[in-house]
Amino acid sequence: MRILVTGGAGFVGSHLIDFLLREGHEVICLDSFFSGQKQNISHNFGNPRFSFLKYDIREPLTGFYRQKIDRVYNLACPASPVQYQFDPILTLETSVKGVQNVLELAIRTGARVLHTSTSEVYGDPLEHPQKESYFGNVNTVGMRSCYDEGKRAAETLCKDYHEEHGVDVRLVRIFNTYGPRMMFNDGRVLSNFILQALLGEDLTVHGDGRQTRSFMYIDDLVSGMNKCLETDLPEWGPINLGNPEERTINDLALAVIHSTSSKSRLVHIDLNDIPSRAGDPKQRCPDIARAKKLLGWEPTIDFNTGLDKTIADFRGRLENRPHVALFCKEFSARNSMVQQSVREIAKRLPGYEFDLIASHTDSDKEENPRIHIYRTKNNSVFSRWFFFVSAALKAKKLHRKYNYQIIWAITIGHGAFAAAFFSWFCRGKVPFLLSVYERNITEKMIARGRITSPIYKFIFRHAHRWQVVGDMSEIQRSLLKNDRAVIPVKFDGNWDKLAGNTKELFQELEILATRL
Ligand code: NAD
Ligand code: UDP
Repeated sequence: MRILVTGGAGFVGSHLIDFLLREGHEVICLDSFFSGQKQNISHNFGNPRFSFLKYDIREPLTGFYRQKIDRVYNLACPASPVQYQFDPILTLETSVKGVQNVLELAIRTGARVLHTSTSEVYGDPLEHPQKESYFGNVNTVGMRSCYDEGKRAAETLCKDYHEEHGVDVRLVRIFNTYGPRMMFNDGRVLSNFILQALLGEDLTVHGDGRQTRSFMYIDDLVSGMNKCLETDLPEWGPINLGNPEERTINDLALAVIHSTSSKSRLVHIDLNDIPSRAGDPKQRCPDIARAKKLLGWEPTIDFNTGLDKTIADFRGRLENRPHVALFCKEFSARNSMVQQSVREIAKRLPGYEFDLIASHTDSDKEENPRIHIYRTKNNSVFSRWFFFVSAALKAKKLHRKYNYQIIWAITIGHGAFAAAFFSWFCRGKVPFLLSVYERNITEKMIARGRITSPIYKFIFRHAHRWQVVGDMSEIQRSLLKNDRAVIPVKFDGNWDKLAGNTKELFQELEILATRL
């Protein structure tokens, strides 16, 4: 069969595509890369039965109207809170306009469609476990609404296109799923816990950890989705796919610590301190009687087996930790505050390798083996003024090997200019974080409320995020107008706090990287 998979570069989609190719089908993967990653599908690029199209399903799928399409799996939609809250309007539009475009395509081609809905349509459920007949308890104006209400509207569209136009569309409501290729830092509980345990960091349990979830291994989900699309169903309606084995988040954390043999501990974070988690459901567990009856399906992979496979995948990927290209012209005692910041922050961020590109350093080797020193040539009077060129060229060479995920500069001098220049080399596709001390944003730079120097303008244009350490004055705030990009952080000598803020920014930038 010729099968279209929307959202195929995401976690679930990439596993589904591997399965469909193994079954001998021809697969077209369509994805906007909003939250998906090329490496999830790159192993299929040489396969003649696989093709890829970068496309946003919010646009009509007219290009496919005259093609033979037998099946469509519609997975396109950012799925984790960090991802969908990044652009809530896009998320809602993807579930409404996007799903309508898929259903219009089905009318034109006669394709059978499987739409992936979610357990989130039950919201914070008042009925437990959740049966398909339960209508849910969802807030229309909360942090999760763009996703939850979007998915609910999508279900309505599927029903109406089925009744009005006879589209053969199937609906699955997916409960929490885990497995290899889950994105690092996407905020989901299992990816967070595994990463934290492998890096020896504290496991961040939200609230008292007594809220429950049930976790299904990815292979079980893929077989359930396939069965749902290929079975002749005697009745229409949504079908829950999930693993009914329910566990508390505390138990989950302990299981991860045990399976990774980690020395990490659990820390409980007050839910009031995590605004993005407002409305966090207290319990969730699927009733899968309908899937059993209609599809003859139930999960077969036990939790510990799935967890071990996922941990092995995370371990493998961690061996290639993301590299940060760090630009800093002087890394010597003369510049001790910068030196101390890099050392203290790098110590607290074990998930990253730091390639420090400098013209002057105290030594060739740092005590921390994750800080690698690369010196630019330093034998002419021009070296100072042309650091931006030599450093950017050095980084460009290293980029081929390390595929930088983040560009980072501390202070707004030569290092920042070099970082901006490298960012320009990369056509803005590698996210650039500029960390500056508040006192370094000077009146001279701001002269008459405008950035006067072309060099500062160039730096300002290229930095994706500004981390401003200290209390900013009004004039500084007026200079750094773009609120979303400027993240002020108080320091007061607390390195844990500064490193925590830097880590959050790195994580945000890694997610941003897939969209640049
Ligand atoms: P994911 O974010 O890894 O994958 C979603 C993919 O859709 C990404 O590759 C993204 O780039 C793409 N995408 C987003 N908006 C798009 C658009 N407008 N046009 C084209 N592509 C777009 O998420 P996932 O975990 O693989 O989830 C896949 C589907 O399953 C989603 O619809 C999600 O709601 C549903 N689901 C997943 C889970 C889970 O636990 N993973 C649970 C319930 C439901
Ligand atoms: N959670 C947690 N620590 C984390 C991430 C999540 O305790 O680092 C909790 C979260 O508050 C929720 C549960 O784990 O109660 C599942 O979160 P996830 O985002 O994975 O899925 P969802 O809330 O969408 O079911």
